[in-house]
Amino acid sequence: MLVLEELNVYYGAIHAIKDVSFQVNKGEIVTLIGSNGAGKSTTLQTISGILRPRKGRILFTDQELSVLSPSAIVAKGISQVPEGRKIFANMSVYENLEMGAYMRRDKAEIKNDITKVFKIFPRLDERRSQLAGTLSGGEQQMLAMGRALMSRPQLLLLDEPSMGLAPILVKQIFAIIKEINETGTTILLVEQNANMALSIAHRAYVLETGKIALSGTAKELACSESVRKAYLGG
Ligand code: ATP
Repeated sequence: MLVLEELNVYYGAIHAIKDVSFQVNKGEIVTLIGSNGAGKSTTLQTISGILRPRKGRILFTDQELSVLSPSAIVAKGISQVPEGRKIFANMSVYENLEMGAYMRRDKAEIKNDITKVFKIFPRLDERRSQLAGTLSGGEQQMLAMGRALMSRPQLLLLDEPSMGLAPILVKQIFAIIKEINETGTTILLVEQNANMALSIAHRAYVLETGKIALSGTAKELACSESVRKAYLGG
């Protein structure tokens, strides 16, 4: 479904992504793990068109993405939940969800999909009129995920959904990610919490200083000596 071929991304003179190649197949949860500054967010932002690669290609269902604008990429079926959520703080929960459907014109279907998001996240339903800026961190993460689902993505890009959340909430969020995947959405998950990410993913790639250092099934990587030492606390 998604194929990255020898991708190279720079910030001025800083070479952040170096010949990165990987793929995500339809129906999978693939996780990209790595420590601070490894290039995980840069990779996601390049897929969603916010950053441009200097070299290499990104193919989505065999179409080249790196020539398209971010909104054209959303229209193709890719939606990103950015790091730090970036919800609209001065809008209500309900309005934030409507914003996620800004490119759609099917009003009745949009309403239907908001109902579906409320089924996945009952917490958001209880707070539908509340200003998003007053939600807790976990609730904001749920809202950001719900908003991303409103464009009916085929591929959902998640950037560190566990960041800043209490362990119990992290568990909840990961259970929901699994559920979203089981209802047909392919997922690329970027995480520093390798334990949790490997527990729900089918396959994984380890990114180290802008390069893919290891890859395999999530089970293989969870058992790998070097992954255990570097990312799973021994
Ligand atoms: P984190 O988990 O800390 O967000 P990450 O793996 O997502 O880390 P990136 O944010 O992709 O890492 O950063 C990769 C490299 O690119 C880092 O060395 C970082 O300092 C650099 N970088 C990121 N954003 C910029 C920027 N706007 N300008 C210059 N360098 C940047």
